[in-house]
Amino acid sequence: MHQQQHAVKERLDRFVRERLEPARERASAPVRVEAWAAPGEPVSFAEAVAQEYAPVEEGHAWGRAWGTVWFRVSGTVPAEWSAGAGEVELAVDPGFVGDGAGFQVEALVFDGSGRALKAIEPKNDYVRLHLAPGASFEVYVEAAANPDVFTSGERYAPTPLGRWETAPDTPIYRLGRIAVVHRDAAVWELVQDVATARGLALELPEGSPRRAELFAALDAMVDAVHPHDVHGTAGAGREALREVLAAPAARSAHKVFAVGHAHIDSAWLWPVRETVRKCARTFANVLELMDEDPELVFACSSAQQFAWIKEHYPELYARIGERVAEGRFVPVGGMWVESDTNMPGSEAMARQFVEGKRFFLEEFGIDTREVWLPDSFGYTGALPQIARAAGAGYFLTQKLSWNEVNRYPHHSFDWEGIDGTRIFAHFPPVDTYNSKLSPQELAHTERNFADKGRENMSLVPFGFGDGGGGPTREMMAAARRAADLEGSPTVRIAPPIEFFEAAEAELASRPVWSGELYLENHRGTYASQARTKRGNRRSEALLHEAELWAATAAVRTGAAYPHELLRSAWRTVLLNQFHDILPGSSIGWVYDQAAKEYAQIEADLEPVIADAVAALGGGGADGFANSGPYEVDGVPAFGAGPRVLDGSVAVSREGGSITVDNGAIVLVLDSDGLITSLVDKATGRETVPPGERGGLLQVFTDTPRHYDAWDVDIEYRRSGRDLVAADDVAVVEDGGDRAVVRVARRFGASAITQTFTVEAGRRAVDVETAVDWHERQHMLKFAFPVDVHTSSARSEIQFGHIERATHTNTSWDEARFETCAHRWVHVAESGWGLGVANDATYGHDVTRHPRAGGGTFSVVRQTLLKSPLFPDPEADQGAHVFRTALVPGGVAEAVRAGYRLNLPLRATTAGAVAPLVRVENPAVVVETVKLAEDGSGDVVVRLYEAHGTRTEAVLDLGFAAASAVETDLLEREVERAAVQGADSGSVSLALRPFQIVTLRLTRA
Ligand SMILES: [Zn+2]
Repeated sequence: MHQQQHAVKERLDRFVRERLEPARERASAPVRVEAWAAPGEPVSFAEAVAQEYAPVEEGHAWGRAWGTVWFRVSGTVPAEWSAGAGEVELAVDPGFVGDGAGFQVEALVFDGSGRALKAIEPKNDYVRLHLAPGASFEVYVEAAANPDVFTSGERYAPTPLGRWETAPDTPIYRLGRIAVVHRDAAVWELVQDVATARGLALELPEGSPRRAELFAALDAMVDAVHPHDVHGTAGAGREALREVLAAPAARSAHKVFAVGHAHIDSAWLWPVRETVRKCARTFANVLELMDEDPELVFACSSAQQFAWIKEHYPELYARIGERVAEGRFVPVGGMWVESDTNMPGSEAMARQFVEGKRFFLEEFGIDTREVWLPDSFGYTGALPQIARAAGAGYFLTQKLSWNEVNRYPHHSFDWEGIDGTRIFAHFPPVDTYNSKLSPQELAHTERNFADKGRENMSLVPFGFGDGGGGPTREMMAAARRAADLEGSPTVRIAPPIEFFEAAEAELASRPVWSGELYLENHRGTYASQARTKRGNRRSEALLHEAELWAATAAVRTGAAYPHELLRSAWRTVLLNQFHDILPGSSIGWVYDQAAKEYAQIEADLEPVIADAVAALGGGGADGFANSGPYEVDGVPAFGAGPRVLDGSVAVSREGGSITVDNGAIVLVLDSDGLITSLVDKATGRETVPPGERGGLLQVFTDTPRHYDAWDVDIEYRRSGRDLVAADDVAVVEDGGDRAVVRVARRFGASAITQTFTVEAGRRAVDVETAVDWHERQHMLKFAFPVDVHTSSARSEIQFGHIERATHTNTSWDEARFETCAHRWVHVAESGWGLGVANDATYGHDVTRHPRAGGGTFSVVRQTLLKSPLFPDPEADQGAHVFRTALVPGGVAEAVRAGYRLNLPLRATTAGAVAPLVRVENPAVVVETVKLAEDGSGDVVVRLYEAHGTRTEAVLDLGFAAASAVETDLLEREVERAAVQGADSGSVSLALRPFQIVTLRLTRA
């Protein structure tokens, strides 16, 4: 029997290839093609049509990498083509290389009025002309010569294609056939029938009667279609398959909710400007397909992508609006972009939702209820609470199917965040966000679904993605055929919310996953492109400062609050948190642009901060403004005043070693400039384990198996070299309230200069590491052995911290060998330990080791640089500065140090400024002070519990409040959860561990 089926398959496949597929065209006719090459960056339709065009032929070489060529195509539909036998289409092959949609040449077709008709992509290379025989037409095709960065030449080889300046300026494409064609509708439908019947048969068990009858019907189909008259006999072929394709699905068949989608990376192997055009192309495809197919529902996740279309393609945007109103073009997710979630700071993660949801509310009146992040590289344990606070109860990703080692046990479950908030989460078991709804993918979905027995439904996002493209008519045909088909899951095209509501209702008692959703892959993304990471961290801090001081000045002096400037800066920061930008996995062009944008944010916000602080003080007195939530050196939190350092610093030298004592700590550096001792005087505890040395720079070769910028493989640890030898160890400041020791080292062609700064009375050592880096595929880490015996480390994440095992007991612990932290990592033994804080570093690893004298000690390492070669061969080259603070004590000290490093005091001559708000309890941290988004002038304060403990606090107000209400992240009033009482001068609060509270304070 198997032999028989194999013979049918061979006969069928040749028949399809040689007879059916070519017969999808009944006839074709030539057209006239003329071209104009845009000299540089893309131009508008109006500008393009006004140019001089020159005739070109098939085979014409066109398009330097990243260039644009406009083709004007004109012709006449032959009069002899009979109307009704099929459709008249323009087939366009701009020079496709293989069939990878979104990673090579793409085009958008406009009619003479500038209306975007449809895109041209591999496997979707036509535009319907809606013309009768004899009619003439003229259209414009904007063809983008996007190079294939990913697969050109050797995969992952360093490529010059990632920047306009380094990419070759010679043509990279050759024009293929452009012709007007008469499509044979019956043959096309037959090809789709065969794809479903054949694909399904191959997924069924070999002995199954269903498989046998499908093969028998396919065999009969080949008999029924005459090879020399396919057009005349296609109907008979369809008839041969009609009965097997009409057999209904089993009662227990898995239920697929198919959602049209296009995962368009907002930048990746193309610059942001190309994504604007990718969105236009994809959305034009979607609208065209919706016109033809009333069943299509398309989910679109990023407010930023809608905003681009609104700005650059208003005609397209108006049509999108109509489909949104019908519920077919469905905004989902409610974030500004599909951001990374490991690295965005607390407020930025909140603002992804605030900006995204507000856009959808203002533009369409839609309050999205799901988090849609199919592709981001792991998910922070803070996300459930942030999502709920933004009004979202559902979460979707499929990225965790990329885990290298462990398989998550569920596809549908409750995900519980660090504070205990739960949301309903779904991992589509199809294991892709670019499904074609093929029988293979549908069968995989059913087989793979981990929650069978409890539940029997899943979501499948379908449509070409990554580089865009979206759903095609072939996918819709596949969905229709699988709607109710024996042997297949059932398929229903629906918006995501229908799936979430149905699945939540069916799965009454849900399994729970607690904590972060760590991705056992792409661990290098916490470090690649360090300059962009610094730009992100710095911009987040500047936005915090600008909002704080502008709000304070608005309340105190009546100064105007720069709403528009702040919103624009936020949107830039949020865009650059996209899951291929901030993680470091894009081409160089993207990072050159990000650097310019971060510089612009600084240029825009520094004057806002300076002007507001100046307006606030009485003037005339030198002092410092403190933008952080904790007092620093006598300067009040959120206020300004003189800085007072307590006591003095003593430096002594003995042999080659240098000892620095500031009253709170004693630091000893040896002749190599390494830390041999760091004693915390409050407790008398030594931080450095016996025989170990801290502050050690280590270099590792970093040549992952795949994906340079994305990945760190565990094998890196075998290659470590300690940078022990120093060129110079010198005390460069010694006296009064501060001592500074400078250590200079070299590695390869790179130079590293570190300064260790100890200030009077401060329980910390501040280390500044200036690196001039000229290595490639080398990772630079900064290591601190800590004399504590512990099996876990705490890392700051958004609005709290997460505890992760430092042992490797389970395969889950072992696979988590590189982790992300925000401003600090802390290891401790019953509350006392060392915090290692940073001002721009995210990648860390924490391990435990046998200790001389018994027990274990811990090693905390920061990952400073990674310098991958692909996709940006220039990644991480040049100058960097990293600031680290070593802080003995508990979590409270680490939290405080994290803010001190990231919101350093600013010198000002404004004199004293009293804070707008104040909290005494160090566990309750005011993260944000701003004016309300609605322009009402209300003061909004966002705070959270930072130590992981239940606590009470009073928020003292530096202004008179008429009312205080709790709100969600969008500043909409919600039921009280933390406020215990309020009067015009204060709000009393009770918080649970890591609770986030947003307060809206109306001024009296
Ligand atoms: Zn992506």
